[in-house]
Amino acid sequence: MAKVGIIQLCGCSGCHISFLDLHDKLLEVLPNIEIVYAPIIMDAKEIPDGIDVFLVEGGIRNKHDEHLIKEIREKSKIVVAFGTCAAYGGIPGLANLYDKEELLKEVYNTDSTDNKGEMPKEEIPELTDVLRPISDYVKVDYVIPGCPPCPDEIAKALEAILKGEAPKLSKKIVCDE
Ligand code: SF4
Repeated sequence: MAKVGIIQLCGCSGCHISFLDLHDKLLEVLPNIEIVYAPIIMDAKEIPDGIDVFLVEGGIRNKHDEHLIKEIREKSKIVVAFGTCAAYGGIPGLANLYDKEELLKEVYNTDSTDNKGEMPKEEIPELTDVLRPISDYVKVDYVIPGCPPCPDEIAKALEAILKGEAPKLSKKIVCDE
């Protein structure tokens, strides 16, 4: 049985939702996989060793993401850029039009923020200068494109990867199902 991990870095969780939207198709795929790490859907603190396939949603936007993607690569046979943000930067990549100090000022200076204008004193991971796709940090074996990828495409891609085959890339860039 293949051990599978799934994680969200700088993404919106939409790719995870699309994975869960597999619904009954998940039952066709699940007998062949054991989900061993998935912080959004199960309690998971440490990334275990010996993962067969790791689906990574989102790009790299801070030092913690950088650390995680390197650890994921070390512990996984196959790393998949899951969705457009992980593969190319996607919508969060639009923030690359601004420098990070400007961004932080904007984010912590809104009327909806307690202590308007004050930077948080808690330890938060340091932002990287720009958001980058995960392939800028580690070798990526496969890409499942889409924002988010369609559930059908996820199922087909996972089935191919689990058989040791390269998934066929979808021409669809937005899932409207
Ligand atoms: Fe969200 Fe789209 Fe990025 Fe997936 S690819 S995390 S759906 S913005």
